Amino acid sequence: MQKIMAINAGSSSLKFQIFEMPGEEVIVKGLIERIGLPGAIFNMSFQNEKMKEVCKIENHGEAVEILLDQLKKHRVIKNLSEIAGVGHRVAHGGEEFVSSCIVTDEVVKGIESVASLAPLHNPANIIGIKTFRDLLPDAISVAVFDTAFHQTIPEENFLYALPYALYEKHHIRKYGFHGTSHQYVAGKAAEVLDKPLEKLKIISCHLGNGASVCAIEGGKSVNTSMGFTPNAGLMMGTRSGTIDATIIPYLVDELGYSLDEVVQMMSTESGVLGVSGISSDFRDIEIAAGEGNSRALLTLRMFTGQICNYIGAYASAMNGCDALLFTAGVGENSPLIRKMVTEQLSYLGVTCDVTKNNAGDMIISENNQAVKVCIIPTNEELMIARDVENYAKQPTR
Ligand code: ADP
Repeated sequence: MQKIMAINAGSSSLKFQIFEMPGEEVIVKGLIERIGLPGAIFNMSFQNEKMKEVCKIENHGEAVEILLDQLKKHRVIKNLSEIAGVGHRVAHGGEEFVSSCIVTDEVVKGIESVASLAPLHNPANIIGIKTFRDLLPDAISVAVFDTAFHQTIPEENFLYALPYALYEKHHIRKYGFHGTSHQYVAGKAAEVLDKPLEKLKIISCHLGNGASVCAIEGGKSVNTSMGFTPNAGLMMGTRSGTIDATIIPYLVDELGYSLDEVVQMMSTESGVLGVSGISSDFRDIEIAAGEGNSRALLTLRMFTGQICNYIGAYASAMNGCDALLFTAGVGENSPLIRKMVTEQLSYLGVTCDVTKNNAGDMIISENNQAVKVCIIPTNEELMIARDVENYAKQPTR
């Protein structure tokens, strides 16, 4: 038995979980919010206890120190040496990292070298990695990349139709994100359906604040809706998703916005929030739609319509689809979104049993249908812990 920690550092937050492996039991989980802002919040739950403390946390390095102190203080662990390994979610691995790997100085340099591709996330990930390596020098450290699962996407699907030199010299291409989640739910769906993953054509819809659709053939990602950055593809909570790129110079040259303002607008004021004018949270949109708010209804139609466009495209590219998966905050919890999506896909043989959908069953398609529609709760932290465990088992560490 060994304790393995999964770390997910965002631009101003740090999520953590410790698993007792190989049983995969979660012994503690928590979230540190508002890092670098006034009134940072430390949340942690373990056994039957829950705690929340407001404190001052300047940066991710301090957040890690406080986390380790709290773990000892509350006797979640007696000694730091009990933690055998730490897995870090890293947003962008560029083309260099096609799978998870043990963190060495060279790997840290590699992650730094692609930091400009994910300026909000990779720097936070790097600080998290470095601080853990300093404070837990005996624990194995593993980097798990959001982009890695998508490195199997073929060139015709990852290239943009820009001059080829931009790809060759500057690595401008589709990378895709949410890879750990898409990979996890695909594997889990194969288990639930009792079919070999290698034989399945899966379309996975990760619908949370960030949202992406992924085509998975034989267990490998063959296309996904996010692109060079996580701003592409579907409209999301506050992100626009893909728009005609020429709107950007029009906003700058004709309407007088600065480029920074446009970038900010596209990532924090657009998407569900921008169109509805109500909220970025689908719960608020569904309530407003229920009250007949026309912009909320429009937002729901736009979002589900875009999802269906990707599903149609991917089903056609794979020449079929055996399983359609819903995951993440919206995908797991919104019967309405699942209903609206599946209703538009009857031509593909997609069905949705109202009772099963409302109950949130794992399989919600009607009985004996070729296309299985499933709700699979994602678990990126568990995927990370499993990756660390695999490396920890290897004698070469
Ligand atoms: P993140 O991308 O931040 O990890 P999550 O996967 O946790 O996000 O998804 C968060 C979103 O899930 C919320 O913004 C909210 O819109 C949506 N959500 C959560 N519960 C429900 C629900 N019961 N009905 C509809 N949407 C929900």
